[in-house]
Amino acid sequence: MESGGDHARSDEPREKCGVVGVSLADRAAARPLYYALYALQHRGQESAGIVTHDGFQQHSHVERGLVGDAFDPGDLEALSGNTGIGHVRYPTAGSLDKSCAQPFSVSFKSGSLGLSHNGNLVNADEVRSELAASGHAFTSDGDTEVIAHDLARNLLKEDLVRAVKHTMSRIHGSYSLTIAHDDTVLGVRDPLGNRPLCLGKLEDGYVLASESAAIDTLDGELVRDVRPGELVVLEPDGSGYDTYQLVESESTAHCFFEHVYFARPDSVIDDSLVYEVRRKLGRKLWEESGVETDVVMPVPDSGRAFASGYADAANETAADGTPRSEGDGSVEFAEGLMKNRYVGRTFIMPTQDERERAVRLKLNPIRSTVEGKTVTIIDDSIVRGTTSTQLVDLVREAGAAEVHLRIGAPPIIAPCYFGIDMATREELIASDMSTEEIRETIAADSLAYLSIDAVAEALDASRADLCLGCVTGEYPFDVEGETTDREVTRPQVGQPPADD
Ligand code: AMP
Repeated sequence: MESGGDHARSDEPREKCGVVGVSLADRAAARPLYYALYALQHRGQESAGIVTHDGFQQHSHVERGLVGDAFDPGDLEALSGNTGIGHVRYPTAGSLDKSCAQPFSVSFKSGSLGLSHNGNLVNADEVRSELAASGHAFTSDGDTEVIAHDLARNLLKEDLVRAVKHTMSRIHGSYSLTIAHDDTVLGVRDPLGNRPLCLGKLEDGYVLASESAAIDTLDGELVRDVRPGELVVLEPDGSGYDTYQLVESESTAHCFFEHVYFARPDSVIDDSLVYEVRRKLGRKLWEESGVETDVVMPVPDSGRAFASGYADAANETAADGTPRSEGDGSVEFAEGLMKNRYVGRTFIMPTQDERERAVRLKLNPIRSTVEGKTVTIIDDSIVRGTTSTQLVDLVREAGAAEVHLRIGAPPIIAPCYFGIDMATREELIASDMSTEEIRETIAADSLAYLSIDAVAEALDASRADLCLGCVTGEYPFDVEGETTDREVTRPQVGQPPADD
């Protein structure tokens, strides 16, 4: 999806999604795919789909809604075959068109293709125009279809590995893909490894998934992350896999926000357990900006791991850096907000009014935790500022003497073009306000964010290997109207594919 600077609209689809693929020896793939999609449901709630192949033909079922609603037992039964891929798609206001739901499937002269995509291309329009000029007809405005057509075209004239390599040389942006070419399942990760993708071993086959939690759900074992620029090809009989490093890059651009907010805490991404990263971020938050209060409490569920790390660090060292000794008393770590788990993600409410109402529906203070006390509320991020404004107000109304806010990420100042729906620049509260101005707006007694360096340290990565676009405004891919944080070459799509 091509978007330019300040003109990016919130109703443009941003493909924040979950992908999976399995290849099994002697068992239908549909159920394992269905369970894996359940494990990835947090990555997308708008639509769910599965494409399988039975050795002769492809079967597909894609439906709007949650995984549990999208399939009935008959649908799973009809998805025959031991190999297949699946997808859950994230909802964004205005992008409810079923033609964008995935896996995207096409049949062509040399077989069938199914494609599941997590990420966002920034040159999809260029590739689409060029393919359209050579006769390809498109049924959606999504970038996944562009990848599918490009790959199908290459497959007409070359083998699978070369075809994928040539498609990778033409598309620019972020992509973690699972692909079904007839009964062969592939996993591809973009050369900078922006979105996660991992490989797991099952008792009777192999699985590729956005997050390792999906592999756990299938009682499998995480083998490793798919490497940036790598193609993994699963054997159709589940007996093994081949791998090809198709593109080498000097650096990576792993999305730090996967660790901060998006991924499940029980997933291992790029060698780090997300829960432990969040706890580390919480510890650093205390070290950088700890404030002594009676109670430390998380915003459920997003702030929980951060708050536990923060409270642990607070019990070891005082805010002024002196070690605590026994008898100093401990900082109370308590639940001060109760979450109504039946309310969906507030973020996707199309209007500000609805978003405010949704926060109130979703969270209610626990009076005994906060009444008469000084409290620190911990959350992972502030995007528009809706949640924090409401929370500070709620907790004060419930009787808190002071309300301090600590945020486990740096201020989000710029939109994400690569797969996380982060609101437009104008909607981001930190895009044009200082931390002090934000504090005033949300009426907190104090507010502090985490530094970018602390994020890199907690992830055990250098800044140059992370995508920090939303907190620096500089991106690892060439987005029209934006600046880049490294040397990037956007492919010249009109040119013939680069030679091997
Ligand atoms: P806001 O209320 O707009 O400031 O959003 C911040 C809240 O939304 C925090 O509680 C985050 O946990 C959560 N959040 C952060 N990023 C996202 C996202 N991309 N999609 C949905 N929710 C998010």
